[in-house]
Amino acid sequence: MYCRDCGEKLSLRFLENEGLVPYCPKCEQFKFPFFPVAVLMLVVNRGENKILLARHAGEDVFKLFAGYLKKGESAEKAIPRELKEETGLNAVKWRYFGSRYHSAKDLLLLQFVVTADEESEIVCGEEIETARWCTPEEAQTLILKDSTAETFLLSALETLGKKK
Ligand SMILES: [Zn+2]
Repeated sequence: MYCRDCGEKLSLRFLENEGLVPYCPKCEQFKFPFFPVAVLMLVVNRGENKILLARHAGEDVFKLFAGYLKKGESAEKAIPRELKEETGLNAVKWRYFGSRYHSAKDLLLLQFVVTADEESEIVCGEEIETARWCTPEEAQTLILKDSTAETFLLSALETLGKKK
């Protein structure tokens, strides 16, 4: 771990109320880690009995919708923006479902259940090849296995009372 400001090797130093925190001896400062934030969205229809899954170009598995927050952007702004960009759909409403640290990508995921209009036409953005509405049973079958998306899907379906 190296200092993002001066490149010096960081060591861990004890900081009261915080525990061990990376410290740069050259800057003489604690360097709290920071990492990107993204929204992970479980998109449901108004009746909450269908789930929208995405298949990305060049892949054969289905995933949930996700996107990085832009600098200075709130999650509330990122949700409708990402959904619009990726599917052409408008986000009707959303609710926070919890956060999860994704270690493989060193990323904090803010998970939301997002309601979109099922009747609106889906127009896929560049990244997505197909987006399709699935029943909860189909979604559980199609979702990428052992993924963060699957974990979120299963716990959200349980909360929605849709898990079989
Ligand atoms: Zn430094």
